[in-house]
Amino acid sequence: MAQLLDGKRIADDIRAEVKLDVDVLLSKGARPPGLAVVLVGGDPASTVYVGSKVKACQELGYYSARHDLPASTTTAELLAVVDALNHDDRVDGILVQLPLPKHIDETLVLDAIVPHKDVDGFHPVNVGLLYLGQEARSLTPCTPTGIIELLQRYDIDVLGKRAVVIGRSAIVGKPMISLLINRSATVTVCHSKTKDLPGVCREADILIAAIGRTGFVTDQFVKPGAVVIDVGINPVTDAAVARELFGDDEKRLAAIERRGQTLAGDVNPRLVEPVAGWLTPVPGGVGPLTIAMLMKNTLKAHRLRDQAATA
Ligand code: NDP
Repeated sequence: MAQLLDGKRIADDIRAEVKLDVDVLLSKGARPPGLAVVLVGGDPASTVYVGSKVKACQELGYYSARHDLPASTTTAELLAVVDALNHDDRVDGILVQLPLPKHIDETLVLDAIVPHKDVDGFHPVNVGLLYLGQEARSLTPCTPTGIIELLQRYDIDVLGKRAVVIGRSAIVGKPMISLLINRSATVTVCHSKTKDLPGVCREADILIAAIGRTGFVTDQFVKPGAVVIDVGINPVTDAAVARELFGDDEKRLAAIERRGQTLAGDVNPRLVEPVAGWLTPVPGGVGPLTIAMLMKNTLKAHRLRDQAATA
């Protein structure tokens, strides 16, 4: 039976470490790290995410600024906000919450954030530095970097291991590949056109699923004893689907009755738990690490800016 990788606990540890570092900074009279979060339109899920990020800033003693812009905001107006934040000395990190409304040119906006404030790690300069293996002077995307932290803190070595990543998005899959290669894993990336996907995945010592399809990864994809990382966050509203994934887990069924949904990943835990050696739960696995790594990235951006100023 797989052991669970407790992302919530690791995220709490990371935040506590960041808090200690911030306290030291403040005790020396330095300015606090600062994060600006920009939300365009009132998408309910994005509003919740932004609220969590601002709350995390407050708990750590960061300077935080939240910019709520109407859905009608134009690309030019959003670029003006980004430009002002690029020049705001209180701000080390700028996060534009995705997805943006369709009429906004997302690439133009993300490229406008100066690379040293790009705490999401999506700017081409940071993407390039990660690809080149120069992580120390770049900001790397929070979710895959959090997965690396999780593996490290559970003493799961990736060096020489066969790692298979399902999904090639710019947010998770592609940076995950670079982070693993930089640590000398042997990496295969799969996507919707991959032939014999279960067979390829069964070769993995470490299997990372970032697909966006509820319970897609079954026992047929998993080598006995493999480490399985489930990045997916998918709402489940149907009790029959919840049973298929979680068996008769009363809490899940109660959540559907009470709140209309429970959350599931891309992995079917009922089928995979008996085969895998390690598995991240959903919720409580990869999700909490993303915000913790955003806080850590903002602190890193603060340090990189300080170093650049004193160089
Ligand atoms: P995207 O939709 O951008 O990418 C999905 C990837 O999965 C694509 O590369 C796609 O292939 C691949 N894929 C889709 N269907 C299949 C299939 N049948 N077989 C093989 N590959 C397939 O998703 P994201 O990377 O943004 O997100 C993935 C999941 O992770 C989502 O559930 C999302 O909510 C979650 N997520 C969770 C985060 C967290 O903090 N825990 C953070 C970010 C995302 P192709 O390229 O060929 O289309």
